Amino acid sequence: MGFVIKSDEYVDILVDIAKRLDQNKDYITELDSITGDGDHWANMNMGFQKIIDDQEQLKALELAPLFKKIGMVLMSTIGGSSGVLYGSAYIATCKAIDGEKVIDANVLATIYLTSVQAIMDRGKAEPGFKTMIDTLHPAAHAYKNALDAGKDESECLDILVDAAQKGMESTKEMVAVKGRATYQANKGVGHLDPGAVTMYYQIDELVKYIKNK
Ligand code: ADP
Ligand code: MG
Repeated sequence: MGFVIKSDEYVDILVDIAKRLDQNKDYITELDSITGDGDHWANMNMGFQKIIDDQEQLKALELAPLFKKIGMVLMSTIGGSSGVLYGSAYIATCKAIDGEKVIDANVLATIYLTSVQAIMDRGKAEPGFKTMIDTLHPAAHAYKNALDAGKDESECLDILVDAAQKGMESTKEMVAVKGRATYQANKGVGHLDPGAVTMYYQIDELVKYIKNK
């Protein structure tokens, strides 16, 4: 298996993510009501609905400009902490993938590693703080390690999504260190972090798209 995602296909993946978010409105809103201020779903939905609205224009862009544009759209429409963090991730990635025409297995590793570093730099959070980083960091590194070990691409993708899921699940027992969950009496313990869950959806939808191609 040697996968390739063209920029218009990446936009289709974002549209799939928008649908996945739409289906999980009540669940994500409930999680953020317990651990935060209840707006995470509405914030993310606003950003991804704008992607749906703009999909035809976005599909005409080359890969790096596409990532820059997505970053700008998400930063200006999501709002909240996650808008800035996703915006920073996409804009940093735009620079890291400059000149690439398509996303292949190695470019995907660059995208995820660059994104997680940008999110950590911007939000001053680390793995273990009960955030979206707890999904993306282990996923990005497990995927990169699997690729470097020469594993089959299909297996690397399974490793990516599996690490993302385990990372998301690990937030349940974590004590929040950054973000609004720190204001809660129990610091979110016993509940998944909503940003970790929506990050998992994004990785899962990307892998599903590639596997169904
Ligand atoms: P806000 O917290 O401003 O209301 P959202 O509700 O949209 O923004 O997003 C909350 C999510 O953002 C959290 O569940 C967490 O995953 C993530 N988050 C918050 N602060 C940080 C941070 N400093 N670094 C990484 N992720 C963070
Ligand atoms: Mg919130």
